[in-house]
Amino acid sequence: MADTMIRGMAANKQVRFFACNSTDTVEKARITHHTSPVVTNALGRLLTGGVLMGAMCKNDTDKLTLRIQCQGPISGMLVTADANGHVKGYVSEPEVMLPANDVAKAVDLGVLSVIKDIGLKEPYVGDTHLVSGEIAEDLTYYFATSDQIPSSVALGVLFNDDTSVANAGGFIIQLMPFTPDEVVDRLEKKITEIDSVTQMLDRGLTPEQILEEILGDFGLEITDTTETRFHCDCSKERVSRALSTLSKKDLDSIIADGESIEVKCQFCNKAYEFSVEELKELRK
Ligand code: ZN
Repeated sequence: MADTMIRGMAANKQVRFFACNSTDTVEKARITHHTSPVVTNALGRLLTGGVLMGAMCKNDTDKLTLRIQCQGPISGMLVTADANGHVKGYVSEPEVMLPANDVAKAVDLGVLSVIKDIGLKEPYVGDTHLVSGEIAEDLTYYFATSDQIPSSVALGVLFNDDTSVANAGGFIIQLMPFTPDEVVDRLEKKITEIDSVTQMLDRGLTPEQILEEILGDFGLEITDTTETRFHCDCSKERVSRALSTLSKKDLDSIIADGESIEVKCQFCNKAYEFSVEELKELRK
């Protein structure tokens, strides 16, 4: 089954939600980047958060990027998503060896940047410090401080014995402005009572069933279902743009070697070859 994302409203449009299954997406990231379990877990959570937040983009061409720069051994992660369920990402150190659930230890202290590119000259960048390194809590904190939106964010990745991804997914539930206290109180109480998203994924629940468990009593209305996947839109032209940001001195030294070079896309590891002639062209 392909990964899917659903979104909708509840409680007379006073609550909005996004939920997804991201098992194939996270498994593709694991295979692409040869990540250790704890890194698969951390990157998987950030990819899942990216899918859900990408759905908040207003236009098809908008892009949402989540960047973490941190002191933990992972060192950094970057995820980019759009409104159409496409997400891609990479991590600075893919081979960190810690127990699979020690995401907070692998990430540790750092900064989360949420970058919204809506086609203006400069993208919007919102920085917050990481509160736990668990990713979901960090995104919750971002929504509360940068966007002033009370949110409940849950992200989870589960593994098979061979360290491949058994199940991944998550949800974001947000209160719209002017939600009555009565609804807020009931929802907060409900969220403390439910299983963790990891437990719900382990029980084999779909995004619809997860939302039904949380918001079933609130008049759940699903407005959209989108297929989602790990997808990289790189091309030789895009990679060459990255190459052309090298200094003339660096390019000269590559050209002087007299051999074609291979440049890999950071997101999907696809290799592009550049001949000396092409490098000379870029040098101009
Ligand atoms: Zn690529």
